[in-house]
Amino acid sequence: MADFQVNRTGDMPPCPRCGEPAALTAHLPLGDGIELFLCLRCDTGNTPAGRLVAILGLPEDQRPQDLFLDFAVAWLRDGAAARGWVQIPGQREP
Ligand SMILES: [Zn+2]
Repeated sequence: MADFQVNRTGDMPPCPRCGEPAALTAHLPLGDGIELFLCLRCDTGNTPAGRLVAILGLPEDQRPQDLFLDFAVAWLRDGAAARGWVQIPGQREP
């Protein structure tokens, strides 16, 4: 899990879809590099991103941390898979 970065501090870059500040961003060092943006407005529904947004919508002390990590990894995998990558480097399968 050391080969990618997830950022959620300071001024967040805008979501490329709606322009609102992203809730989370991630950089995956795959190919030319993959930038992922998690957006509270655009990422909804029963998708890895939507499930992560649902957790982020909870008060911080009520977020299930184990699920947050699982959903974050699922979001990263989904983002990589959408660009043709099927596994995140450095991550072992369960
Ligand atoms: Zn958006």
